[in-house]
Formats: sequence, C-alpha cells, structure tokens
Amino acid sequence: MAADRGAVGSPPRRSAPSSSHQRQRDKMQIPDEKKSTYCDLPIKQQRRKLVQAVKDNPFLIVTGRTGSGKTTQLPKYLYEAGFSKHGTIGVTQPRKVAAISVAQRVAEEMNCSLGSLVGYQVRFDDCSSQDTAIKYMTDGCLLRHMMVDPDLTKFSVIILDEAHERTLTTDILFGLLKKLFQEKSPNRKEHLKVVVMSATIELVGLSAFFGNCPVVDIPGKIFPVKEIFCNLIGPKDKENSSYVNAVVKVTIEIHLNESAGDILVFLTGQSEIERTCELLFQKAESIDYQYDVQDHSIDGLLILPLYGAMPTEQQRRIFLPPPPGIRKCVVSTNISATSLTIDGIRYVVDGGFVKQLNHNPRLGLDMLEVVPISKSEAMQRTGRAGRTSSGTCFRIYNQDFWDQCMPDYMIPEIKRTSLTSVILTLKCLAIHDVIRFPYLERPDEKLILEALKHLYQCDAIDRSGHVTKLGLSMAEFPLSPNLTRAILKAASLDCEDLLLPIAAMLSVESVFIRPGEAEKQEEAELRHQELSSQAGGFNDFATLAIIFEQCKSSPSPSAWCQKHWIHWRCLQSAFRVEGQLREIIRKLKQQPDFPRESFDGPRQEILRRCLCTGYFTNVARR
Ligand code: ADP
Ligand code: MG
Repeated sequence: MAADRGAVGSPPRRSAPSSSHQRQRDKMQIPDEKKSTYCDLPIKQQRRKLVQAVKDNPFLIVTGRTGSGKTTQLPKYLYEAGFSKHGTIGVTQPRKVAAISVAQRVAEEMNCSLGSLVGYQVRFDDCSSQDTAIKYMTDGCLLRHMMVDPDLTKFSVIILDEAHERTLTTDILFGLLKKLFQEKSPNRKEHLKVVVMSATIELVGLSAFFGNCPVVDIPGKIFPVKEIFCNLIGPKDKENSSYVNAVVKVTIEIHLNESAGDILVFLTGQSEIERTCELLFQKAESIDYQYDVQDHSIDGLLILPLYGAMPTEQQRRIFLPPPPGIRKCVVSTNISATSLTIDGIRYVVDGGFVKQLNHNPRLGLDMLEVVPISKSEAMQRTGRAGRTSSGTCFRIYNQDFWDQCMPDYMIPEIKRTSLTSVILTLKCLAIHDVIRFPYLERPDEKLILEALKHLYQCDAIDRSGHVTKLGLSMAEFPLSPNLTRAILKAASLDCEDLLLPIAAMLSVESVFIRPGEAEKQEEAELRHQELSSQAGGFNDFATLAIIFEQCKSSPSPSAWCQKHWIHWRCLQSAFRVEGQLREIIRKLKQQPDFPRESFDGPRQEILRRCLCTGYFTNVARR
C-alpha cells in the first residue's frame, strides 16, 4: 500500500508534448543500477564514535563535507544500534525532493520497500506507516507535527539535517527543541536525542546555543579543484539573465575540450534549467553531426535537468552512471550543492545566481528573487568537482563580480522573510512571548511585529496576542495564512468549492508548459490566452480555476492537457491536494462551533469577497 502511495506521488510525465531534449531523455535506457558501495564513505570510520556520542548527549552536532554519508548513513547506524526501540528516528530536510530521494536511497540500501521500515513525509504526501523506523521529512512537516505532539513522544531521535542552510523552519525548530529540554516537560521522554548535521563548520554559536554540546567532525578528503573565472559576466550583469547563454557556452566548451568526467551546472530554477537543457541539446546535436557524421549520434552528451518539481523517477536517473563513453551533464538548482550528491562529477559550471525568498516590507509580500550567491555557497559548488577525483570549477563570472556582488555568507531566512506562518505556529504551540523565544539568531523585531499585526488583522490572534479559534483552524492548513483565511471564509459561506481548486493550483508547480522553441512557444501562449480569456481577461486565480474544472470534467484529462499545453502531472497533484484540503474542511465543519455565514449573490461576487478577506493586504482603492 505504501508503495502504491509512492507511485501515486510520481506519475510519469508522458502527456506533455515532448521537447527535443525530453525525447533524448526518453531514448535513454536506464541501465541496471550498480549498487554503489556505501561501505567506503568517510562516515564509516566514525561510526562507533558517533553512535556513542548520540547515546551520551541530548544534543550533538555533526559536521562533514557533502557526500561524506551523513544523511544516508547516520540514521541507519542509529537504527542498527537500537534507537528505534524507543520511537521513530526522524530526519528533517529543507527540501521535499531531498527528503524523498534520500528515503528512496536508504530504503534500497536496507532492502525494504519505501514506506515500510524507511519512509518519508512531505507536504501533501505521506509515505510512511506504523512500522516506519527511519522517517525523512521536510522541516515544515516536523514543525506541523509538533502542533499535535509538542513533546515529540513518537520520536527517539530528531536529526535536523542541512543546518547550514538556515531555513526559517529549521531555525524555529532549533529554538523549540532547546525549549523542550529547558522546560523538562513531564511528557518528554528521557531518551529523546537531537542531532544537528551541517555541511560546513561555520555554524558559530550553535554548540553554545545547545549548552556547549559536543561537535563531531567527519574528516573527508577532497581532491584538488582548479578554479577558473571565465569572465563572461561582471557586476553590470547582475540584473539580466545573459548568464544562461554564458553557461551554455562554457558547458559546450568543456564537453569538446576536456577529458572524461561528468558536468554539473548550477542555475536558479525550473524554466531556466529547461531552457538551458534545450539550448544545450540543440548545440550538442549540431556538434555531433559535425564530429560524428557517420552514426548521427547525439548521445555524446547526456543532458539531465534537476529541480524540485521534477517527477521522482526522472530524478532517479540523475544518480545512475551514464552509458559507457557518454558524458553526463546535470543542469541543477542549488539542490545539488549540498542536499543531493551525484557521483562522477569532475566539472562544475557555476552560474553565480540563486533564487531567494526576500520580504518586501513596502508590499508586505515575500518575493522570489534571483540574487548572486555567497562566496561560501560558491565554495560548496566548487567542492562538487573534487569529490572522487581532481576536477575543475568554471565560474562564468569575473573576479569583480566575486569581489563586489557576492556576500561572504547568505543572510539566514529568518532575517529576510515574512514570519507570519511560523509565529502562528508558535502561538498554537502556546508560546506566547514570541519576542523572547530562544532564537539562534533573533529576527528583526519589526518583522515579528509585522507578523503579529497581520495575524491580528486576519483574526488569527486576539488583542492580547492569544491564538483564536479561527487561528487554530488556520494552522490546520499547510498553506499561507492569506490563502487559508480565504478558504475558511469560503467554508463559512459553504462555498469552499469555489476556492479549493484555486488553492490546490497555487500549491503545485506552475501548470503552464513553456516550450523552448519559438514556434511552439507561440502556439502554447495562444492556448494559454484562450483559457485566460474564458476567465474574463488576465485574471490569474479565475484562470487557474477554469483549468482545474475543465480538465477535471474532461472525458480524457491527459489529452485535454496536451491540447492546452498544460502539465498533466501538475494537475494530477492539484487534484490530490484539493482532495486533502477538502478533507481538512470536512473535519473542521463537524465541530459544532464552526462559524457559519450567509450571503446572497452571484458566485463570482462570493469568490471575490473570500479572496479579499484573505488577501486584504493586496487590495488597493482605485
Ligand atoms: P551527506 O549527507 O554527508 O552529504 P549523503 O549521505 O547524502 O552524504 O551521500 C552519501 C553517498 O550516498 C553519496 O556519495 C552518493 O554516492 C550516495 N547517494 C546519496 N543519495 C543517493 C541517491 N538518491 N541515489 C544514489 N546514490 C545516493
Ligand atoms: Mg546530506
């Protein structure tokens, strides 16, 4: 059953009109997987020391280079040492993809089906069971779990992985776990252990934060990596996206001029990555015709994209060794900088940018922005080229870009994004004084006050700052407070049907297919415009609702998607999410004091009212 669930979570992506690089991917046969040996990972040497340190200390910090085996091996060691007798071993990951991919890997290594002994839980997808001893999950899932089980009674060990990423949620978990031990909660189990893992040792103050807990470092060798500045972009190019072309140029040059070894290219997000793959494919095709006229081979370079929203079985190909004589080129987001390790990489192409969520205080919104990476991040990327042999890192930017545009370290998320969601969670956990909460790094007080004001305006907290009944209901939804407020308004009017499709569509990756080739792009845009004109112009929300409804009621939904250049895979996810949200509302409505309202008016008017209730911060008077 668990395996079924895993399969549902990853429908094959065959319905989309295939682009040329997709055709290439489809042509590739997955060879028999070589069970890579995990016996010679650097962490193996430290096994005994690590297990003992976890036994002896409530808190432990483990550092070690990416690929040393922390994420896949330590939970296994703890399981084999008997920790799971007292509860699940929970491992958090900032990224959903990493949680799923690593769980799959560990299940394979332990010879069990995913969802049994080893499982995962991410937003809207729970692939675990009563028997799950090692559970990989997103940090957000653990935070939500703490709302129902604040003392973590179901767990024996909590491993907070990828701590160097300093995501907002991991930072909050640091504070909650510290508090849990400070307060000597009567329910806290004696054997609960906390391990924090990080790819860098720059986490100054973390050990002090956890009562000067010990730090175990996993020494790992790294082969020399040559660093080359390609000087293709400089400080002036900070604002434009010319770096895609630069990345393509450098990658092709590596393929033509450098000796054997796979390439890992770092870019910022899905659309850019798809575009780059398309360009690379076109280039590779023309090169191979030129160089290998006889066999018309286009297989010299195997181009594989890697980003969060990709279907799971496509992600798995990334880890397989390429067929003999073929060079693998993975075009990835930051996910392969530390979360996922791909073997065989000898060349890194560093595009120099990353997508980052930043709070815009004027608009009161978090915005995803493309910004230069930090120097520390650049060094992580560089390290990917020297894991199994010496390698080279090609930085497409110049020294001035490095000096002037790249900060030493990234600012942690807690200092740059909206805190509304996490403050609501803290309030639900009965942590009233959110200003004096033990933060590893205190966020700007202005951000805290802004979040409190927002929650008060949403009626999620009352004048005295206590969470309201509505606030508790809002916390049930794994969605933004604005969207949740709109849904609850609709539910009180008994017309959640209007809003759930929109909420579901906003929770999945963009459904619109944007092909790389100009001709197809025109055709796709035309189809998308037709859909939005049915929604009465460029109304994003209504368009999403129309796509959802039309596809759902179509006799052949996948063909409908193909015709309208819509990702069928994303719509399938949206259908599932809608079902789950509907279930949450059904349960809430069973409560006798669930608020009820009535309003007579056309459906569109009701929809607008609900949206305004939720997104009141985005309303303007004309
Ligand atoms: P760390 O957490 O220290 O960065 P990992 O435990 O993630 O290291 O990775 C250890 C090794 O396991 C990697 O070198 C890689 O070879 C292998 N590995 C990890 N995840 C996968 C996966 N999903 N598929 C195949 N191999 C993997
Ligand atoms: Mg790891």
